[in-house]
Amino acid sequence: MMEDIEKVRALFEKEINAADNLNELDRIRVRYLGKKGSITLLTRSLSRVPAEQRPALGQKINELKNAAGSMLEEKKEQLKSRAYSTRWDKERIDVTLPGSPYGLGRKHPITRVLEEIEEIFTGMGFQVAEGPDVELDYYNFEALNIPREHPARDMQDSYYIDEDVLLRTHTSPVQIRSMQEQAPRLPVRIIAPGKVYRRDDDVTHSPMFHQVEGLLVDKGISLADLKGTLLLFAQEMFGKKREIRLRPSFFPFTEPSAEVDISCIICDGRGCRVCKETGWLEILGSGMVHPRVLKMSGYDPEKVTGYAFGMGVERIAMLKYGVDDIRLFFTNDLRMLKQL
Ligand SMILES: [Zn+2]
Repeated sequence: MMEDIEKVRALFEKEINAADNLNELDRIRVRYLGKKGSITLLTRSLSRVPAEQRPALGQKINELKNAAGSMLEEKKEQLKSRAYSTRWDKERIDVTLPGSPYGLGRKHPITRVLEEIEEIFTGMGFQVAEGPDVELDYYNFEALNIPREHPARDMQDSYYIDEDVLLRTHTSPVQIRSMQEQAPRLPVRIIAPGKVYRRDDDVTHSPMFHQVEGLLVDKGISLADLKGTLLLFAQEMFGKKREIRLRPSFFPFTEPSAEVDISCIICDGRGCRVCKETGWLEILGSGMVHPRVLKMSGYDPEKVTGYAFGMGVERIAMLKYGVDDIRLFFTNDLRMLKQL
């Protein structure tokens, strides 16, 4: 019996050393430790040996069983880690291969122009103010001196949500909100960038576009201050050679009102297709804040004055980048966006 045990041990060790994959290892486990495995059969045959030999033989067989179990575990770990490192050998990175290109995102041209406008005005001391896109009729029209029956309401086709709420048609309501928030402290010096909405859709109009509103209210503000500010803006935005001119116009919330042109950035004022041979390009609307608007927002028009202006960001981006269809900014065609 003792001899049998040693034979089984020797055979087991030989086989397990030769095993070189996990399937084979499992077959060895069944052959020795399974129901009909050699080591299991040794345990069963104990019943046939004389009783006085059983304890010593039983101990030997148990030792073999335990040793076999731990050798199987050890070999299994060995084979596993070898399989892992073999896979790594195959997948090793070839550092001499060229890298794959990494496409870096960039800001949308409208965002860049918007940020540039903000930078120019904050450099002059203006603070950025914001207001809601979904606006009350009161702020969008009423407080800007555009009462319900005013014909100026026909100037803009609006997206109404209900009778008193609409998508703002301009950033001007932020003027009102800023003044009301701050009154009667001076000065009010803000720009309000943001999205606005109108029922328009053609090569120069989009149903959603961006505006930047500007407002300065203080003691002794005049049209000369407005002109100086806008000239500085035009030169920072479009180059030092830029000139501006103010043309009389009409807006309900300013009096007097003026359209502002800059000398053509293509032909420098000599006349070309872009400026329709006039030498001038219209870039924004402006004027002195209407006394009634000041009064409604908590300022005394006898004591303070102010100017306001509003510009379309897409219009400025179109001029700056030479884009002639506003819709190109919003179709998100990467070929177009990458050019700018
Ligand atoms: Zn021109």
